Amino acid sequence: MTAQSREIPYKIYLEENELPTAWYNLRADMKNKPAPLLNPATGAPMSAEELEAVFCRDLVRQELDDTSRDIPIPKDILDFYKMYRPSPLVRAYFLEKALETPAKIYYKFEGNNTSGSHKLNSAIAQAYYAKKQGLIGVTTETGAGQWGTALAMACAYMGLDCRVYMVKISYEQKPFRREVMRTYGADVTPSPSETTHVGREILKAHPGTGGSLGCAISEAVEDAVSHEGYRYVLGSVLNQVLLHQSIIGLEAKAAMDKFGIKPDVIIGCAGGGSNLGGLISPFMGEKLRGEADYRFIAAEPASCPSLTRGRFAYDFCDTGHVCPLAKMYTLGSDFIPSPNHAGGLRYHGMSPVLSQLRADGLLDAVALEQTSVFSAAELFARVEGTLPAPESSHAIKAAIDEALKCKETGEEKTILFGLTGTGYFDMKAYEQFHNGTMIDFIPSDADLEQGFRSLPAV
Ligand SMILES: *Cc1c(COP(=O)(O)O)cnc(C)c1O
Repeated sequence: MTAQSREIPYKIYLEENELPTAWYNLRADMKNKPAPLLNPATGAPMSAEELEAVFCRDLVRQELDDTSRDIPIPKDILDFYKMYRPSPLVRAYFLEKALETPAKIYYKFEGNNTSGSHKLNSAIAQAYYAKKQGLIGVTTETGAGQWGTALAMACAYMGLDCRVYMVKISYEQKPFRREVMRTYGADVTPSPSETTHVGREILKAHPGTGGSLGCAISEAVEDAVSHEGYRYVLGSVLNQVLLHQSIIGLEAKAAMDKFGIKPDVIIGCAGGGSNLGGLISPFMGEKLRGEADYRFIAAEPASCPSLTRGRFAYDFCDTGHVCPLAKMYTLGSDFIPSPNHAGGLRYHGMSPVLSQLRADGLLDAVALEQTSVFSAAELFARVEGTLPAPESSHAIKAAIDEALKCKETGEEKTILFGLTGTGYFDMKAYEQFHNGTMIDFIPSDADLEQGFRSLPAV
């Protein structure tokens, strides 16, 4: 029996002995490497030493490593992964049927852990390296709360202190997210806060603000650098995070290879780019090495369209301008999405790795309006059973659009998309959608110009 002739099960799991034991570093195969992080004061590339004042030592090594292709996953991390991995690769038979499409749709589901998303894959790695360095704890920011939850879980497992600055509006709207983090022992502060200098400055300039990811990052960094034995960790955007998230793509590829399946189109939602970068990594590697061809699509919100309408430029990663500069597709560090934007993915920039791939014409991007995203989410929940996170639903919508194109042309394409998480804590947004109060907001060119004005001259 050939691989192709075997019937494809609804869920494809890998056996424990088939799990990846090394992360894949896509940068090793990129001809044009992502641009280095720059010191905002001097404009020179950040040295390992400078970065180590903020980030954990081994993570800095991974951040700067553009050449090692395979990076072995330490045994403690592999053991933790085994508690909730492999994540299932699901054939979306019921969605295909509902769409009456000849396309074959697969999704890699990362929501089967308590944090509810893929973020745990990097959280456990970052907590492991912090512990290995002998640190007391780590600080971070969280927007919707998934990253903070994942990091709290990882820190509890590793025995590390965890301080989370949570965007104030989310802190108020999602009290249960906060409580999950506290259950795992994390200390959660609404941002901007009076705890940090930068928080007090932001509050003075914008009294009553609900905060933003960029503000919370500035606070978390300040907290880390001003306390002995602490470092700052980040849940997306950075090269090291994409490296850890390559576990998603490696597992997906191994599962597909087992059944002789080759995707034509690979789709992920894009906030800071970590799940998309992780999912596409091994496939993009094959494309870069000329071994196979795939089409890659980033799905982003029309209200925060960094890849489709942003500038490819050096920019600040945070509002308080305490972080290094990164070259990326960005809307400007002053850009804050419209308050009616409910679907997550609200960061102003994008992973430098994905940004470089996009600039090199290797990554397509689509911008989606939120009501259409929630319609897709609802259809998906009803036919496939899983209640998707709004973020993930951008990928669902893009996959449905591709599948409907196949219906028109009769092409039997194979589509793979990343279903990054569950939406249990996002019912406020679903409520707006059901009540008909959700509106689509697309920033005008003039709105975007205002954000671009905050770009530094480099
Ligand atoms: C954080 C998050 C995202 C977006 O982050 P990326 O770094 O772009 O992957 C997407 N989906 C879920 C469920 C998330 O929690």
